Amino acid sequence: MRNTALIIVDVQNDFCPGGALAVNEGDQVIPPLNRAAETIAHQGGLVLASRDWHPRETKHFAEFGGNWLVHCVPNTHGAEFHPNLKLPEGTVIISKGVGAEDDGYSAFEGRTADGKTLDEALKAHGVQWRDDGEQAYQVSYTPLCSEWMAEQRTRCAQSCLSLGFTPTRRAHA
Ligand SMILES: [Zn+2]
Repeated sequence: MRNTALIIVDVQNDFCPGGALAVNEGDQVIPPLNRAAETIAHQGGLVLASRDWHPRETKHFAEFGGNWLVHCVPNTHGAEFHPNLKLPEGTVIISKGVGAEDDGYSAFEGRTADGKTLDEALKAHGVQWRDDGEQAYQVSYTPLCSEWMAEQRTRCAQSCLSLGFTPTRRAHA
């Protein structure tokens, strides 16, 4: 499991019931995610958690020409991870959509606190692809599911594949 990573995507209050862009029953992903995260961390794998992390003024938001209501602005309740989400010690946080021009639809567009891309963070932990065509490593990712997040899910999966990782789904509400 050392070569395994779990990428928890945007389990933030604004995407859960009661939030600005709530996914109906989106919080149902949390118990299986907690179990998967605990297992993977216990076995030496890497747990990463992405978060939307938008400035108050961004082209991502409808009032500035984008598609979305205001959500996941740092230092607001909506931007915080859901309180029931249990991130193991050592979880790497990936912030995305940070710039005023960025949508940040894929966790692969985000960065860690020390400036690494997700790709770099995975490789630093030994989660890599092999160039002989064998699928030796897997990245599991666990997006909240809704119609409007389908694009994000697809982009994340495409990013995974284009970087040589094999995305698999662990949990799905
Ligand atoms: Zn967003």
